[in-house]
Amino acid sequence: MLIDHHTHHYRCGHAKGTLEDVIEAAIAKGLDGIGLSDHSPIYHLGDGDHVEPGRAMAKSELPRYVAEMAALKERYRDRIDVKLGVESDHVDGWEEHYKQLWESYDLDYVIGSVHWLGDWNIFDPRLPEGKDAWEVYEAYLLATQRAARSGAYDIIGHLDCIKTRGHMPTRAITPLLEETIRVIAESGVAIELNTSGWRKSVQECYPRREVLECCFHYGVPVALGSDAHAPELVAAGFERACRLLWDVGYREIVTFTKRKRESIPIDLDRVRRLAGG
Ligand SMILES: [Zn+2]
Ligand SMILES: [Zn+2]
Repeated sequence: MLIDHHTHHYRCGHAKGTLEDVIEAAIAKGLDGIGLSDHSPIYHLGDGDHVEPGRAMAKSELPRYVAEMAALKERYRDRIDVKLGVESDHVDGWEEHYKQLWESYDLDYVIGSVHWLGDWNIFDPRLPEGKDAWEVYEAYLLATQRAARSGAYDIIGHLDCIKTRGHMPTRAITPLLEETIRVIAESGVAIELNTSGWRKSVQECYPRREVLECCFHYGVPVALGSDAHAPELVAAGFERACRLLWDVGYREIVTFTKRKRESIPIDLDRVRRLAGG
């Protein structure tokens, strides 16, 4: 069974295509399931309805997003398993807000991603005033630990993506990273193997191989995600991702239904036959 858990569409303001386009692309590729997981509205930067139009949907759009996903799940029932998800920001201090928000909807899973350290976005190439790369990396991992422990999320999104703009030590595994992976394992949440890093200048998936090896050692489950911001990128890099997981030692990946995790075997023959994968 092959499912892409991480996809975006036009509502976030920086992705192409409709939810239906994403589902059709997944069917054309031959996936068994497609997880819809657009960016959550941004709450911590102000009370306005749409504080960052280029980054995420408006607050008022969230109920419509969930309703549209539910209608499409029903409509496509016989053709593909549409999973209702969201990529939620995790912002320190907002754990309860997100936990209650996601419990109020009938979702299959929630990806919790650290995109923000306060009002600083981790994809900003400039470091925050007065901070060095190590301090930022440390703050990012500590925020990730709080995300894992919060109970608000099922999957930790793109675990080491703070490396995208170079804010990362050269050593692949630091003691704090290993501690973070242990916290993830103890919290019972999964991570994703997010293939989008292979399409960026960093040229590494999230997380990189050494981190996946450490996750395997501690028994952290992995879900697959392309982080597609255009329908044609659904399931991009999945063959490579499955091979990598297999090499690391994984024989199963996971998916979620109504926030319950289930394991599915990695089928290398199957993923090789994916259209344009
Ligand atoms: Zn995005
Ligand atoms: Zn993200």
